[in-house]
Amino acid sequence: MSTTTSPQPKSGVSIRELCIRFDANEVIKGLNLEIREGEFLVLLGPSGCGKSTLLHSIAGLTDFESIAAGTVEIGGQDMTFADPSARGIGMVFQSYALYPTMTVEKNMSFGLRVAGCPKDEVQRRVQRVAAMLQLEPLLQRKPGQLSGGQRQRVAIGRALVREAAVLLFDEPLSNLDAKLRAELRRELKLLHKKLGSTMIYVTHDQVEAMTLASRIVVMKGGVIQQIGAPTEVYERPANLFVAGFLGAPG
Ligand code: ADP
Ligand code: MG
Repeated sequence: MSTTTSPQPKSGVSIRELCIRFDANEVIKGLNLEIREGEFLVLLGPSGCGKSTLLHSIAGLTDFESIAAGTVEIGGQDMTFADPSARGIGMVFQSYALYPTMTVEKNMSFGLRVAGCPKDEVQRRVQRVAAMLQLEPLLQRKPGQLSGGQRQRVAIGRALVREAAVLLFDEPLSNLDAKLRAELRRELKLLHKKLGSTMIYVTHDQVEAMTLASRIVVMKGGVIQQIGAPTEVYERPANLFVAGFLGAPG
């Protein structure tokens, strides 16, 4: 039944020798990372270790003056200093900044309309994403009439309608209670299966990382400590920091 366009291919992300510095504070320290097309990569580490900074560098949200060295490639193209809108990414933040006066439908379609997407195409995409996220009954409501979980679903939906090949998430569930978090984790996993897009997901929550990731990147102080599948990182931590952070015995 689905005749929808799938995300464009070539959605791997390569980060090479990236250094990001805020004045004298070096936050990302010569970081190298190959993110594979279609994988669910989780950036895991304690608060302040540079996860958001790294994600922002992929999104194009870093003040370019802070990029002291290195490159960010998306789909094989150098995007280090490219405009966010040119990068083919969608992003979901921790605080769902929905437009309070617009309906859910408008919130989801606004960005596409601004980008000049034809009206029937906008409608098709909103319907498809609304069905995926069970938002259909809520389309005519305003954000003030939604629960926290529903609002975060809308925020995810708003990123999905772009049909971007790369989706970035910055602690999208951390404002929600445990039950909703578990529910949305399941939904995100299903979405990843359906869409096949590359997902890069920031969290400081070990459970979230273990359940969502195809690979986990453990960070500390702007440096990668270990990269591996969840079981690998959990069972064979590369150092004491990783072992302690994941709560593995010994
Ligand atoms: P995380 O997301 O892992 O909690 P961040 O990437 O937000 O960590 O921050 C890493 C460090 O960089 C922190 O010390 C933070 O204060 C600093 N930092 C982040 N963004 C900026 C900025 N725009 N200007 C100055 N310092 C910043
Ligand atoms: Mg952060």
